[in-house]
Amino acid sequence: MEWLEQILPQLRLPGRYTGGEVNSVRKDPGRVDCRLVLAYPDLYEIGMSYLGLQVLYQAVNREPDLWAERVFAPDRDLERQLQAAGRRLFSLESRTPLADFDIVGFTRQHELNDLDILAMLRLGGIPVRSCERTDAHPLVLLGGPGASHPEPLAEALDAVFVGDGERALVELARLVGELRRGRAGRRRILEELARQPGVYVPSLYRPRYSAAGDYLGLEPVGDVPAVVRRRLEPDLDELPAPDQPLVAQVQTVHDRLAVEIQRGCTRGCRFCQAGMINRPTRQRSPAGVLRLLRRGLASSGHDEVSLLSLSAGDHPCLVELLELITSEPGHPVAASLPSLRAETLTTR
Ligand code: SF4
Repeated sequence: MEWLEQILPQLRLPGRYTGGEVNSVRKDPGRVDCRLVLAYPDLYEIGMSYLGLQVLYQAVNREPDLWAERVFAPDRDLERQLQAAGRRLFSLESRTPLADFDIVGFTRQHELNDLDILAMLRLGGIPVRSCERTDAHPLVLLGGPGASHPEPLAEALDAVFVGDGERALVELARLVGELRRGRAGRRRILEELARQPGVYVPSLYRPRYSAAGDYLGLEPVGDVPAVVRRRLEPDLDELPAPDQPLVAQVQTVHDRLAVEIQRGCTRGCRFCQAGMINRPTRQRSPAGVLRLLRRGLASSGHDEVSLLSLSAGDHPCLVELLELITSEPGHPVAASLPSLRAETLTTR
């Protein structure tokens, strides 16, 4: 019996750590060119509710030469067991220690994730500081909303990706796989990454100060762009989207199918980070939403859908969409709108 099976009865919610969910993906490690693990710095039931994880998981795994697995922050009980047994934090799909991947890709939803990111690196057997890693270690990549202001974590990160990641992560994984197979050193890989759209490599920039000691900004060290620009995907209908969502094994905080109908927000409230970093507003077409809905329901067994958007009432086809969804043949489908401004409600 494997070590994990032996300790599972001692853990609260063991289903967090077993993997094997409906629509999870296993591949032969010898037949892929790059192995990455999508690392969510919070508990399974929170991370499995995050649509971004499902989007990237399916976007990468539809490529035969790449394999994306998952890891979530362990609860205290598993953390203690790992430390007591001298074992490393592992992926759900193949139970591979984090240190053995090509890329460990964290999402940073907010600053409170930072300590969990550092703890997961340590538990996974990866030096916490980027400068202490060697060619044998994975590249630690950061994405998500918190990647727009990554500097507090910069020393722990090899690269940061800013923007829409569906296509970019596939391209970056392929690039890293190719370079590692060609025995490129860490520095060379980081320089290549820094030339890709939306990628910031903290170790290739240094702070600049005025004579009075005031911070003026970052300047590149070597031949990398002076300004890192966010990567933007203009058309949601053209992007890979999760039509075979992972179905969690324990109750999650959002236990339903999620379909993104709109990215960005037209309102521009000055205090709102999501509204600022996701500009411009882009909509998925009703036909695109329906396609994802039908496939997602059929492959997951859900009977409720959440139409995700920053301000769903601003989607120009929302009423039409709701009418289409509620008149779908077969089992009735409940639709929920998690973010709605009151003045966008109509009587219809
Ligand atoms: S998401 Fe809400 S708070 Fe943010 S810009 Fe839109 S309306 Fe304003």
